[in-house]
Amino acid sequence: MSEAESSIIEHVSSVEDSPLSKTGESIFSQLLQRLLAGRGIKLGDEIEGNGSLEILLENSPDAILLLTAAGVVVEANPAFCQAYGWTRTELAGSSLLSLVPEEYWPSFSEMLVGFSSRDQDSPVEFSNDYMDFKAKAKDGAILSAECLLSPVWAGGERRIIAVLRDSPIDRVLIEQLKESKDHYLALSETITEAIFRLDEDFNIIFVNSGVKNTFGFDRDELVKRKFSVLFPEEVFAKHLDEFRKYFIVDDQDRLALGLKRTIELLGVTKNRGVTPMEMSFGNSRDFSGRTLTCIIRDISQRKTMERRLRHLAFHDKLTGLGNRDLFNEDMKAFLSESILGNGRNAALLFLDLDGFKHINDTLGHSAGDELLVETARRIRVCLREADSSYRFGGDEFVAFLPEIFDSQRAVSVAERILGAVKLPYEVTTDSRAKTRVEIGVSIGVAVMPEHGEDAEAVTRSADIAMYCSKEAGRNRVTVFDESLNTKANESWRVEQDIRTALVKGEFELHYQPIVAPTGKLLGVEALIRWRRAGAMFMSPGSFIPIAEQNGMIIPLGAWVFRRAFIDLRRLERGGFGHIYFSINVSGKQFEQPDFVRTLCDAIDKAAVNPARLNLELTETTLMSNADDAVVKILEIKNRYPAIMLSIDDFGTGYSSLSYLSRLPVDILKIDISFVRALHDEQNRKVVNSILTLAESLGINVVAEGIETVEQLSYFRDRNCYGMQGHLFMKAQAIDELERRFATLRAASRAAESHAL
Ligand code: C2E
Ligand code: MG
Ligand code: MG
Repeated sequence: MSEAESSIIEHVSSVEDSPLSKTGESIFSQLLQRLLAGRGIKLGDEIEGNGSLEILLENSPDAILLLTAAGVVVEANPAFCQAYGWTRTELAGSSLLSLVPEEYWPSFSEMLVGFSSRDQDSPVEFSNDYMDFKAKAKDGAILSAECLLSPVWAGGERRIIAVLRDSPIDRVLIEQLKESKDHYLALSETITEAIFRLDEDFNIIFVNSGVKNTFGFDRDELVKRKFSVLFPEEVFAKHLDEFRKYFIVDDQDRLALGLKRTIELLGVTKNRGVTPMEMSFGNSRDFSGRTLTCIIRDISQRKTMERRLRHLAFHDKLTGLGNRDLFNEDMKAFLSESILGNGRNAALLFLDLDGFKHINDTLGHSAGDELLVETARRIRVCLREADSSYRFGGDEFVAFLPEIFDSQRAVSVAERILGAVKLPYEVTTDSRAKTRVEIGVSIGVAVMPEHGEDAEAVTRSADIAMYCSKEAGRNRVTVFDESLNTKANESWRVEQDIRTALVKGEFELHYQPIVAPTGKLLGVEALIRWRRAGAMFMSPGSFIPIAEQNGMIIPLGAWVFRRAFIDLRRLERGGFGHIYFSINVSGKQFEQPDFVRTLCDAIDKAAVNPARLNLELTETTLMSNADDAVVKILEIKNRYPAIMLSIDDFGTGYSSLSYLSRLPVDILKIDISFVRALHDEQNRKVVNSILTLAESLGINVVAEGIETVEQLSYFRDRNCYGMQGHLFMKAQAIDELERRFATLRAASRAAESHAL
């Protein structure tokens, strides 16, 4: 309701409530009655003789004429003479009509006739007795006024009193007010909110029927009762001062005084239920003093909805744990209430499940979801009531322990969680079969304020510690310390540097030949090099592991494929289309669910011959998730049967023979460490058994890191398929490689022709 509207309502309501209005008479006649009543005269009384008429005429601020029933002026009061400029003598005996412009004569005559036929007690009627009146002033001006004609008896004769006002009450306004009042009443009856008008003692002086919906009371049960019955005692007492302010402070001043537009509080319904309500206010004045109008609505549904929305916004739908936003909120609240230090510490546990992705990928998402829900439950069980747990997304959980003395309790909670998560889970696979799975969790612990004074810092520290748990072999607890931070900072810096290096083109692919014992060129292995601005080449051994850790290996690996495909086409054009290109694929790259698709897309896009490609995957990569590896390799081979697969660094990991036989492997690359230790009898036995195993499986062997002629002879004597090492050539940039290949080819052609 607008302010204007409410003030009209107040105005109309006050007319309604005034005792004068109860008779249904016009406001004008009410005024006249008041005027006369102030002089002890009642309208229609015999007034001559007590002198009251004279007093009335002399003192009234209104212009008044006393007329005979025929409309002849008997008396004019000073206010009339002053307003119209005529003297009393000039007026006495003249006809009213002589004072009125001609066009008004008919209506005046008609009214005078009506008066003369009226008896003494007939009531004054607004519509007949009240009229617009134009009267001539002595100076010729026509003045507008409103005229009320009332019959009186004086000296046994009928007289007419004409009261003229030059400040007419606006009838249109009155009509509008009445209309607004009706409108207001209709409106207040149709809305479901409760509308109250209160006096200054908080008595209810008006209430609409919406109170039934809101409070369950009928309006009659509340009118004249105390407003306080609608609230719990303490709630009303708490808000009383505030209500008082709303009584006296106008709308526009409220904000300046810190008063709200609406307030929320608890109300009491008829059946004694306590319900959240919202109240808005409008104050005003009426005849009896200040009043306060308030609209009260039941907001229980809205509150429930808000609670639900808040819950949705701050909780993880799957596990019901709080989410990252709730964690931030809780931390804000915790830090504003608590002073940490001096033996008062808090701890944050950052948890990340080990190999969750694999379970999700192999057993299906519903199994993954079940596992997450159960993990959330197990984490909660390990915590105290004051502790809280959150899911940050994926398989990341956080536990917050607000009260610890030192990191020891945090570590023991973390270890308890470790033990709980370790227990087998029973999950349902996509094919609805129940299956048991086991999983581990890597946990990082950080203590507040030592390892971070705010939410962001402590989370980061716990996150770093968690990564260290992963690196150290997973399924363990690491407590943060500063040295970890340095490591993490370095990793972060390298991440940023790789990003810019990719853009700036600081990476290069160099190629190292792989040759047969006969000296025939079989292929080249692509080895990445990073020419950091102003620095020497950086060896892949120093940045590939970091790139694997921070995920930069994915864009980097994609770049390697693109670059290698360009160089492959170049060597093809240069007459080296028969050799293969070995490309190293990182474990992190291979475990991407879309690895196969990305690879195939890249091959198609570059239009390279798949028969010329050799993917090098380390033994550890393939065996750490052997089932997944078999599926992916078969998918690739299915699409491109001629593509080759090498197991890199063979012998350094653990290969399950059963998997090896299931994988369509083309080449085993004996790790450089075995080649270097050929002098060792034990080592030679291992090398020999690898060669025998490969032969029995029909797999070729390439020996890596051949540096000496002895090493060359050893493998040549055992019919090794290929050799790679500095003895033949170090890895070279493509230009240099092409140049050297051309030279070698020219030399061998010369030797051939020489032999001929
Ligand atoms: P790797 O795939 O086993 O590559 C063979 C490594 O042995 C290369 O080291 C190569 O330069 C080195 N090497 C070859 N012959 C000899 C020799 O006679 N003596 C010695 N001392 N070393 C020899 P590099 O280039 O430093 O690469 C190290 C590792 O980095 C690679 O081992 C591979 O795992 C990884 N890497 C290199 N390039 C890439 C790449 O493009 N992508 C991925 N994911 N990893 C790569
Ligand atoms: Mg390799
Ligand atoms: Mg290798």
